[in-house]
Amino acid sequence: MSTEKAGEKSDDCLFCKIVAGEVPAEVVGQSDSAVAFKDIDPKAPVHVLVVPRRHHADVGALAGASPEVLADVVGLADQVASDLADGQYRLICNVGPKAGQTVFHAHAHVLAGTQLAGF
Ligand code: IMP
Repeated sequence: MSTEKAGEKSDDCLFCKIVAGEVPAEVVGQSDSAVAFKDIDPKAPVHVLVVPRRHHADVGALAGASPEVLADVVGLADQVASDLADGQYRLICNVGPKAGQTVFHAHAHVLAGTQLAGF
């Protein structure tokens, strides 16, 4: 059984380790409560992940626990899209394995830098 608690660093969480500087990442933006770094397997010319510094399993859990931090994640995403592209972007949050979530630390994908296909 996991002893992980919302908001606390999880020892076996990849994104907690990136936030702590224990796993290398190309950081492209930071705020008091969030960090933005390049996705290791980009799906667009600009593909950045924005994560809260504190551990929450997904954005739904983050919204319930710290809506102001979720707003900060979106604000940092907007800033990164302006810094690295033209300020136009798609924001994707996968919640749960059925949606494709593979890393269970809340994050938003920022996709930008090209004409994205509609869906
Ligand atoms: P998810 O599928 O929505 O959970 O997104 C997880 C994302 O993390 C995927 O797009 C992966 O390519 C990305 N990823 C996995 N490991 C790393 C890493 O070490 N650095 C940066 N991105 C990573």
